[in-house]
Amino acid sequence: MQYIAPLAKLVEQFRSLPGIGAKSAVRLAYHVLEMDRGKAEGLAKAILEAKAKVTYCSICFNITDQDPCAICQSEGRDRSVLCVVEEPRDVMAMERTREFRGLYHVLHGALSPLEGVGPDNIRIKELLQRVGAAPVSEVIMATDPDVEGEATAMYVAKLLKPLGISVTRIAHGLPVGGDLEYADEVTLGKALENRRSM
Ligand code: ZN
Repeated sequence: MQYIAPLAKLVEQFRSLPGIGAKSAVRLAYHVLEMDRGKAEGLAKAILEAKAKVTYCSICFNITDQDPCAICQSEGRDRSVLCVVEEPRDVMAMERTREFRGLYHVLHGALSPLEGVGPDNIRIKELLQRVGAAPVSEVIMATDPDVEGEATAMYVAKLLKPLGISVTRIAHGLPVGGDLEYADEVTLGKALENRRSM
């Protein structure tokens, strides 16, 4: 017994999302079928609007619906400190700690020779241009505490230190091999507070 074609198509779409297994995909697809038309349209519209309206900040490369983003535009932030993270969702994790008042730089990935991700594939060049153009005194490397994140932090530190910039690494205490975004605010706040010089 096979799913009718429109349902199969919906299941396939949900199945392609991260963290959604076969069973969940089927459950979500049936759920959509039971929604009234207005709700289903709302869901579809939210997806299309997010894709249409969300871009990357031309300064920090975080996701934004205005360029520069609200953080880069904010008067209350310390422009001399940059926190470098791998993904836009890591910015949200850092913001939740309420401990960081500087600006961000989102690399959009981490160095991974095995997966063919080199320095030119992530926003390292843009970071160098940024620190060259503005008075930055400290760069905090808040890449993930895994092999790729560590390698990326070391690589960037090597490039920045000759420019007279203090490069620090957030402390461990974060689960090794973990994902920054899943750390709770307290752990991440502590990791930031106990950052060490690279
Ligand atoms: Zn920005």
